[in-house]
Amino acid sequence: MERFSENAIRVLEARYLLRDSEGALIETPEEMFHRVADAVALAEQSFADAKTAERYAEEFFDLLSKREFLPNSPTLMNAGTPLGQLSACFVLPVEDSMPEIFESLKLMALIQQAGGGTGFSFSRLRPRGDLVKKTGGQASGPISFMRIFDCATENIRQGGKRRGANMGVLRIDHPDVRDFIGAKLDGVSFQNFNLSVGITDAFMQATQKNEPFAFVHPGSGQATETIPAGELLQSIAEAAWKTGDPGMIFMDAINRENPTPQLGAIEATNPCGEVPLLPYEACNLGSINVSRMVRKDATGYFIDWKKLSDTTRLSLRFLDNVIEVCRWPDSRIAEMVRGNRKVGLGVMGFAELLILLEIPYGSDQSVRLAEELMQYIAAEALAASQQLAEERGVFPNWEKSIYAAKGIRLRNATRTSIAPTGTIGIIAGTSAGIEPLFALAYRREHVLGEQTLVEVNPLFLRYAEQYGLQSQKLKDDLQCLGSLSKLTGVPAEVKALFRTALEIAPEDHLRIQAAFQKHVDNAVSKTVNLPESASVETIAEIYRRAWEMGLKGVTVYRYGSKGQQVLYLGTGE
Ligand code: UDP
Repeated sequence: MERFSENAIRVLEARYLLRDSEGALIETPEEMFHRVADAVALAEQSFADAKTAERYAEEFFDLLSKREFLPNSPTLMNAGTPLGQLSACFVLPVEDSMPEIFESLKLMALIQQAGGGTGFSFSRLRPRGDLVKKTGGQASGPISFMRIFDCATENIRQGGKRRGANMGVLRIDHPDVRDFIGAKLDGVSFQNFNLSVGITDAFMQATQKNEPFAFVHPGSGQATETIPAGELLQSIAEAAWKTGDPGMIFMDAINRENPTPQLGAIEATNPCGEVPLLPYEACNLGSINVSRMVRKDATGYFIDWKKLSDTTRLSLRFLDNVIEVCRWPDSRIAEMVRGNRKVGLGVMGFAELLILLEIPYGSDQSVRLAEELMQYIAAEALAASQQLAEERGVFPNWEKSIYAAKGIRLRNATRTSIAPTGTIGIIAGTSAGIEPLFALAYRREHVLGEQTLVEVNPLFLRYAEQYGLQSQKLKDDLQCLGSLSKLTGVPAEVKALFRTALEIAPEDHLRIQAAFQKHVDNAVSKTVNLPESASVETIAEIYRRAWEMGLKGVTVYRYGSKGQQVLYLGTGE
């Protein structure tokens, strides 16, 4: 089996490979891939025979061990173990009553213990200061209840394997939204939450026309106050400028593509935003390493479309099998997941693929390729889901879905999603999700708290060697600055090819996100990274453009704006 990078081995040993009761490692990476492949292939036995299961166990092992596709972390960690909870993404309801709020809190604890991330809409909670009939007292409001969830997550810590992650959503027309927008400004609150304001088309239109916008009581539906829409948008941009939070999710764009509107409107997403889900739904993700979907001839690299087709179809089957063998912490979740059978197949290594093909990230050509690639994967995933519907039946809620009217028989209500691949990207040894390279040399705030200096990006080193660019001075300078842009003696086309996240224009980040979103039926996890010098107005403009482009959400991060960030450019020394 191909070797792993040093970082991959550290991550695998720390969190993925099984240990005995004394804490000693009892599994190699190869054995881990066998454990996962065997457990997931077992699902074949429900539809075919043991022989088919054996055949797929081999095919899945091949797929995983070549790191052409990896499922989300909980599947790698828990498949074939007594825990057996394999999904990364959940959404739980938060209804406006004490028993229901604490019921969700309990479920959150069980999900996070098993490595899943949870999303919540707090929009149904009555605003702060509202009357509580039973006691005659005053309601404490959504932000106050969110603190309880945050604190619980802090205390669960998922057995040291995976930090708990939450998404908190509050609609833009909730009377407490200003408190929500500023909830992380103190730099200490809600460290276990990503926050997203649930934005409506009506709100964005009001900002365009500079009109007043009304807050609405979630219980009575009555307007409580009006304020200028532009002012609200500005306050979101200011908070995001200062701390990176909140992000935005575009509720109407999401619900226009809700595959099962008869089952209810979608109000929240999972923690990183790539999967909009109904309450009690969960979704398991997996990502194709597109940097491995290439061949090389005398003229250079090109995409191997046949290999991409085979990989997509096998990966989708893998993800459908995961639903079959997964154990859920609650019967309501099991019922919802088995009813819609949502999966999220996406890509990682997109930036690496572009470099292999010598296409600069953010160029027109890269945007066209993004679209072509995702259109192809989406079509193959759809075909695979249709084939599975023939073999195994349509998803049980199919009659109530948009696909029934179209006469498209499918096994899965959604097939595609672009995940961040924060950890599986490290295991696969490629660039994360569809993000550009963050830096050519960076320090990573390690998952376990230590910092590692990743030397110079190995892809760049390979390229530099090929083009006779390597020198100790170049390496030293790169280690310090993290990018090529300020270095002399490097050809402009090489600088363009290795442009890093902070050097790519916000509009180009958005164009890549939009190109993928066009063919993704869930959503796309993508951060518009900005240099420290970016202005509040730039952020407000990104919001407007993201909405105009029809994105389902948008996240910005200005370098240095969090007290502690995951990646730092170079050593700065
Ligand atoms: N997630 C989580 N905790 C984490 C990282 C991720 O619960 O520390 C969940 C979350 O729902 C996120 C999803 O896993 O949206 C996918 O994240 P990513 O692709 O980075 O996970 P990986 O599979 O690479 O670990």
